[in-house]
Amino acid sequence: MESISLRPELTVYVSAIWQTTSTRVRCGETTLVIDSVVLPEELADVASAINRGAMGDVAIAITHGDWDHVLAPTVFPDAPVHTGASTCSRLAATPEETAAALRSFDEQWYILREPFALPALTAHPLPGSWQIAEQTIELHPTPGHTADGCAYHLPWLKTLVCGDYLSSVEIPMLNASGSIEDYVATLRRLGALLGAVETVIPGHGPPVCVGRAREILAEDTIYAEALLADPADATPPPSRTNPHQLTIHAANLTQLERTRTVP
Ligand SMILES: [Zn+2]
Repeated sequence: MESISLRPELTVYVSAIWQTTSTRVRCGETTLVIDSVVLPEELADVASAINRGAMGDVAIAITHGDWDHVLAPTVFPDAPVHTGASTCSRLAATPEETAAALRSFDEQWYILREPFALPALTAHPLPGSWQIAEQTIELHPTPGHTADGCAYHLPWLKTLVCGDYLSSVEIPMLNASGSIEDYVATLRRLGALLGAVETVIPGHGPPVCVGRAREILAEDTIYAEALLADPADATPPPSRTNPHQLTIHAANLTQLERTRTVP
């Protein structure tokens, strides 16, 4: 795991698995933890680093309900957990899905950990805002990768924590509930937010400056619009074409085929 300190009140932890990110934000005396790293040792290391530096309470926020992003409550069991309303609905509707997906990953890699139990969630309207101490966090809906999701805009830090978009390591990915129409609309929405930020923290891969985020946005928009117009013509963004990314591209085509043939 890598720990990237952007400013005294902002640290990004990057997991060894899929470079999944967990972001620590200090808001007054509260420490906000957005999303999670993946391995049990990484989660424990993040918890002890945060507990060492914390001045007050810890609160958790989740960008979307995929299992690799929701593990922070396992190491902060008393912290309140906040999500956008769409993620709250998703997790409440399918509580077993997250636990089963985590169990399957752990079985594949012989990882030992306690079974996942869904914590109580506080849902926020999307779009909406959330006040912590003197700071106001803006929440913006981000469906597309999955049917649920939100981005957290931290205006006082000129930072956008956007979940599984604008990644330098992963091409746009449509999960089972994903929609290419929603994906294109979310990229537009995120693009409009880039004017107000200097740093973007994606769900996978290191934080990027807004200039690099704009390049990724341009590549991903071309790809997503091609998937929307004619999937056969779409080629993955040129900066991310390793064999695994090509596997994701093939899965995107399957997902489009599946969702377009269902009446
Ligand atoms: Zn993810």
